[in-house]
Amino acid sequence: MPDITHISKCRLCGQQFKAIAQGVPIIGEPQEKQMVKFLGGVFQHLASKHMAHPQLQELIGFAILACIESPDPAVQEAQKNARHNMHRRTVDPKWGPQPFPDEVLQHAIAGIGLETEQAAHVMRLVTEVRDALLEQGPAVAQATEMPVMVSSE
Ligand SMILES: [Zn+2]
Repeated sequence: MPDITHISKCRLCGQQFKAIAQGVPIIGEPQEKQMVKFLGGVFQHLASKHMAHPQLQELIGFAILACIESPDPAVQEAQKNARHNMHRRTVDPKWGPQPFPDEVLQHAIAGIGLETEQAAHVMRLVTEVRDALLEQGPAVAQATEMPVMVSSE
C-alpha cells in the first residue's frame, strides 16, 4: 500500500505534522474536514509555541485589522500599511525580491523592434502597470513597516 501521508514542517522550529495527501479520499470524511483538522493542529502548535514571533504577529495583526471598521485615522493608517505589507509579502517568490526590473522590460521591448519613441512610450506604460500592481515606485507612497504586537491585556 502506498504511503498516503505527507510530512509538513513548522518553518519556525521544525515540528513535523502529518497530513493526509490532498486528493486521497477517506471514506466517511470529506477532504475539507481533513484540511480543517490539519490546520487546527498547526494552529494549536503556533498558538502554544510561537505567538511572539514577528511573522505570526504580523499575520494576526493583519487578520484583526481586516475584521474591523474604524473612523480612527491611526487605525485606518495601520490597516492601510498592514494590507500593503501583506500584498508585498504575497507576491510569488518566483519573481524575486524586485520583480520585472527595468532592464528586463527594456530588453523585452527592444525585441519587438519598435521605433525609439514608441519603445519609450511602451516602457513607460509597462513600468506604470508593474508599479501599480506591485504597489511600488515613485507614484506609490511607501507604507511604513509597522509591527503590530498582539496582546490580550
Ligand atoms: Zn514550530
